[in-house]
Amino acid sequence: TMSCLTAIDAGDALGAFVHKTPEIALEQARAADARIKAGDAPAMCGIPLGIKDLFCTKGVPSQAASNILRGFRPEYESTVTTKLFDAGAVMLGKLNMDEFAMGSSNETSCYGNAVNPWKVDGRTLTPGGSSGGSAAAVAADLCLAATGTDTGGSIRQPAAFTGIVGIKPTYGRVSRWGIVAFASSLDQAGPMTKSVRDAAIFLQAMSGHDPKDSTSADLPVPDFEAALTGDIRGKKIGLPREYRMDGMPAEIEKLWSDGAAMLKDAGAEIVDISLPHTKYALPAYYVIAPAEASSNLARYDGVRYGHRATLSAGDGITEMYEKTRAEGFGKEVQRRVMIGTYVLSAGFYDAYYNRARKVRALIKRDFEQVFAAGVDAILTPATPSAAFGLGEMSSADPIEMYLNDVFTVTVNLAGLPGVAVPVGLDKQGLPLGLQLIGRPWEEGALLNHAYVLE
Ligand code: GLN
Repeated sequence: TMSCLTAIDAGDALGAFVHKTPEIALEQARAADARIKAGDAPAMCGIPLGIKDLFCTKGVPSQAASNILRGFRPEYESTVTTKLFDAGAVMLGKLNMDEFAMGSSNETSCYGNAVNPWKVDGRTLTPGGSSGGSAAAVAADLCLAATGTDTGGSIRQPAAFTGIVGIKPTYGRVSRWGIVAFASSLDQAGPMTKSVRDAAIFLQAMSGHDPKDSTSADLPVPDFEAALTGDIRGKKIGLPREYRMDGMPAEIEKLWSDGAAMLKDAGAEIVDISLPHTKYALPAYYVIAPAEASSNLARYDGVRYGHRATLSAGDGITEMYEKTRAEGFGKEVQRRVMIGTYVLSAGFYDAYYNRARKVRALIKRDFEQVFAAGVDAILTPATPSAAFGLGEMSSADPIEMYLNDVFTVTVNLAGLPGVAVPVGLDKQGLPLGLQLIGRPWEEGALLNHAYVLE
C-alpha cells in the first residue's frame, strides 16, 4: 500500500486517479495486517486497488466523472466495494473514466482525460474508455488491480489498449447496486488486472447474489481460480466469420490467427462459425444504451444530487432543471439523452427502440445456437486497432468513436461473459488484445482459455 501511494503521487501526470484516499488506504492496510497476523487472510487481504469513479463509495466523492455530481459523497457503499473490503482489499482512491461511462477514450471526463502509459514517438495515446483511468493505473503499476464497468466494451477495450486483462462477467453475476447506472440491462462490473489469475481471484471476491439488485443471479459462485488448469484439450473454439471486417488491419488479422494457433497447440479444435446478426449489433446498441441512459439520467434534476445551477429571479422548476442539466452534463452525455428520448418517444418507439430489442434477441440467439452446437468459447479481436492518439478521433463525427465497440457490444447485448487478454504488440510496439467469449455463468472455463493465451 505504501509503495502504491508513492507511485500514485509520482504518476499524477497520467491523470488516472481523480481522488486519492490515503487515510482510508492506510487504515484498511493496518486492518489487513492485523487479519493476516490473526491467521485470517481472505483472498484480497491487503491488496491495494483503484476504484472507478462510477462506484459509490461511502463518504468519498463519487462523481461518475460528471460535473452534475460535483460534491456528491454517497451515504452508502456499493455492494462490489463492500464485498472487496470484506475480502480485505484496500482502496487507494477513485479512478478517471468517461462521463457516466459514455465513451471509448476517456476524453469525455469532467476531470480531463487519463493518459496511456504506453508511449510511441512522442504521441500521447488514450488508455481507452470508459474505464480509462482503471486501465492506465493498472498498466502503470499505480495499483495492483482496479474495478471497471462494461456496458459496451468499457472494461475490454481499455484493457486491450494498455496490455492488461479485463473481464466482463455474465450479466447478473455481479451486483449493480451502488454503481451509477448507465444502461441497466447492459451494465456489469468486472476486474481489470495484470494477469488472468488475478482476474479469477478478484472476480470471485466481487461476485454473488445481492437481494438489493433484482437482476443479480441467485447462483453459487464457483472457484474461478481452481478452473485455471491450462488444460483445454478437446475444447472447441469458434472464429466468427462476421468479425472479419472489411479493411481489418493486417496486424489485427495476424494477432487473431496467432491466438487461434496458440489455442490449437494447447489441444483445442478451431472451427469456423457464423453469428449472422453481428452487423446489426452496433446500431442496436446505440439505440438501447442511450434509451436506458436517458431514463437513468432523469434523476439528475438539481434537487437530489450534486450540482444545481444558479437561478435568476422568476426562474421556475423547469428553468432549474434545464439550466442544471445544460451546465452539468457534457456534450456526449447530452447527445445520448437526446437520442434516447427520441427513440423512446411515442412516434418512434416501434421504429427504433422496439426494433432494436428484436435485433438484440436475434443476436442473443446467434450465440445460443453456436454454443448449442458444441462451441466452448469464441475468439475475436478485442478492438479494431491499437490505442489511438488523444484528440485523433474526429469530434465532428461521434460514429467514428462508436466504431471502436464493434467487437465488444454483442457480448453485452447477449449478456455473456467476455475477457480481453493481451496477446502481442503491433509494429509500433503497442499492446494488442484478443477477446474470448464464453457460455453464460462459465467465467471459470472462459478464464482458463484466456490463461492459455496470456
Ligand atoms: N464505448 C461505449 C459507449 O460509449 C461503451 C461504454 C461502456 O461500456 N461503458 O457506450
